[in-house]
Amino acid sequence: MNSNKVKISFCSRSANEAFARGAVAAFVATMDPTVAELSDIKTAVSEAVTNCIVHAYRDTVGQIDLTAEIREDNKLILTITDKGVGIEDVERAMQPMYTTGSPEERAGLGFAVMKSFMDELKVRSKPGKGTRVTMTKYIRSR
Ligand code: ATP
Ligand code: MG
Repeated sequence: MNSNKVKISFCSRSANEAFARGAVAAFVATMDPTVAELSDIKTAVSEAVTNCIVHAYRDTVGQIDLTAEIREDNKLILTITDKGVGIEDVERAMQPMYTTGSPEERAGLGFAVMKSFMDELKVRSKPGKGTRVTMTKYIRSR
């Protein structure tokens, strides 16, 4: 069985959103994804990392941990973890258009985008402790 895993940690500066997206794209390249699959994965990573930057560590800078794992040749599992403010009601936070951010800046669609672009999305969170987003995508063989 073919499996591979990497982990990166970076601080919650907005410049690192592009770094995280690019790092995951480089890792996933070995799976030979389509352009559309790669674009979906990069967008989902951007949304999850942006949430850590703007929500989890709103008035501060903290650590973001990202893991990427390839399992069974075509299964990609990503986790994005922060030790920020956490989410009181995860189910409500995942509703489309729900946002605690400023309505001019945030659409409340980040989780909806992650859900539709990936095959599975799980969010675990504890207020005051932090949040872990786990996303799975199956890279279709062509
Ligand atoms: P958009 O992503 O469209 O800019 P948004 O970030 O508010 O807007 P979502 O990404 O769907 O929308 O997140 C919904 C809400 O969940 C956020 O407004 C915030 O309250 C909460 N949230 C999401 N991720 C985190 C996180 N890592 N830590 C704390 N709260 C979070
Ligand atoms: Mg968001």
